[in-house]
Amino acid sequence: MEMKKELLRQIPKIDEILAQPQAAQAMAQGRRAAVTQAARQAAERLRSRILAGETPELSAEATAALALEIAEENSRMNLRPVINGTGIVLHTNLGRARMSHEAALAAMQVAENYNTLEYDCRQGRRGSRYDHVESLLCQLTGAEAALAVNNNAAAVMLILGALAKDKQVIVSRGELVEIGGSFRVPEIMEQSNSALAEVGTTNKTHPQDYERAITDQTAALLKVHTSNYKIMGFTEDVPLEQLAEIGRRRGLPVIYDLGSGALTDLAAYGIESEPTVQWACQAGADIVSFSGDKLLGGPQAGIVVGKKSYIDVMKKNPLTRAVRIDKLTLAALEATLRIYLEPEQINQKIPTYQMLSMPLEEIQAKGRRLLEKLAEVPGLHGQLVEEQGQVGGGSVPAQMIPTWAVALRHESVTPDQLETRLRLLPLPIIGRISKDRFLLDMRTTQEEYLDYIAQSVAQETARGGREETA
Ligand SMILES: *Cc1c(COP(=O)(O)O)cnc(C)c1O
Repeated sequence: MEMKKELLRQIPKIDEILAQPQAAQAMAQGRRAAVTQAARQAAERLRSRILAGETPELSAEATAALALEIAEENSRMNLRPVINGTGIVLHTNLGRARMSHEAALAAMQVAENYNTLEYDCRQGRRGSRYDHVESLLCQLTGAEAALAVNNNAAAVMLILGALAKDKQVIVSRGELVEIGGSFRVPEIMEQSNSALAEVGTTNKTHPQDYERAITDQTAALLKVHTSNYKIMGFTEDVPLEQLAEIGRRRGLPVIYDLGSGALTDLAAYGIESEPTVQWACQAGADIVSFSGDKLLGGPQAGIVVGKKSYIDVMKKNPLTRAVRIDKLTLAALEATLRIYLEPEQINQKIPTYQMLSMPLEEIQAKGRRLLEKLAEVPGLHGQLVEEQGQVGGGSVPAQMIPTWAVALRHESVTPDQLETRLRLLPLPIIGRISKDRFLLDMRTTQEEYLDYIAQSVAQETARGGREETA
C-alpha cells in the first residue's frame, strides 16, 4: 500500500509532462487542447496501472511519449475504414455492403454542394425528394410505384402503419423472424399499431390457415422472407403466388418483406437462388420491401415498391416524414440503381458483386501475391488454405461460398497476439483464428491493401511475443 502511494506521488504533474520537448513542440504546432487532454489521460492511465499493482515507467519523458501516443489515438476517426479479412461479404458489424465508387462520389458531390434534393429545375419550383429514385426503381423492378426510406425496418413499420393501423395483419408462425439487433416482426407490428394474427405452426402453414383467419378486421396478408435462417425437413409454407391469389380473391393487399432485395439472380454466382424483387412483383405481391445495403449493394436504405394506390397512401402518412431518407443516402442509392440499368456493369462496379463473381483462381492468385510479399518476414509461416466464406447480412441462409484464405503462424507471436495487434492498427485488419492460425480471407480482402497488410504483419511480428502493458 505504502509502495503504491509512493508510486502515485511520482506520477509527473501535467505541467511537467507538457514541458517535455516533444509535447511542447506538438503544443506549438497548434495541438494545444489535444495534447493537454492527452497528458491528463496519460497520468490517469498511469494511476490505474499503479492501482492494479503494476510498476510503470514514471519519468516525465516517458509520460510525455505516452501522452503523444494517446493524442494520436484520440485524433483517429472512430468511424473509419477497416480491412475485412473475415470472408463475410455483407458483414453487418463492418458496415454491410461496400458502396461502389459511383455511389460514394455521388454522395460526396451532393454533400459539398447545394443540390436538387427538393427542387425541380425544369419547373423552377419545389420538387419532391422521393422523385429521384422512383422511376429508376419502377424501371428495374417492374413495379408501378416506389418509395425509399431510412432502412427496411422503418419501411416495414411504415407499410403496416399506413395500411393496417388499428387493424389486423395475418402472418405465418414460420415467418416471425428476428433479424439481428432488434428487428422482430411481432414488435414492429406492435409499434405500428397493427394486430398480429399468427397462423399455422413453426414448420407448416397451409393456404386454409390464412383463409380461415381472415375477418372483417383483416387489413393485409404479410409474408416475411426468412432471410437469416432456414427451416429444414418437414416444412411447408404458402408460396407467394398462392398467397397473392388469396389476397386478390378476398380484396386484401399482400405485403412481402423480402429483406435482402436482390435485383439480380444469385444463381449466376453459384449461390443458391434468392427471390429477386422483380420476381416478387411479378408473383403478385402488392407491396415489396427490402434493404439498400444487403444484396442491392448500396447504402443503408429501406425500399418499398408496389401498387401505386398503396404507395400513395404511404407517402401521405406522417410516419414517412419521420423515417425519411437523407440526401447523401439518396444520392448513393440513385447512383447504385443507375449501375443496374446496364446489367453487364454490375459485376464490375458494385463491390458486393465484384467479390461474389470473383473466380476461385483469382482469389487464390491474390493470396499468392500476399504470401510473396510476406516471404521475407522473419519467423513467419504462411500458406494458402481452402476455406468457406459467407454472403452474410442476413441473406442467403446457411449458404457458404468456397474461398481461399492466407493462414499465418509465427514462431514467437501467437495467433491471438497477431489478431489483436492487427485489429488495433490505425487501419485495422480484421481476420479470424482457426486451427491455431491467423486467417485472412482473400475474397473480401481488397487488393489495394496487400502491401499495407504485408508491412503491418512484418512490423507487428518484429516486436516478438512480448505482451505490451500499455
Ligand atoms: C434485414 C431485414 C430487415 C431489416 O432491414 P434493415 O435494412 O436492416 O432495417 C427486415 N426484414 C427482413 C426480412 C430482413 O432480412
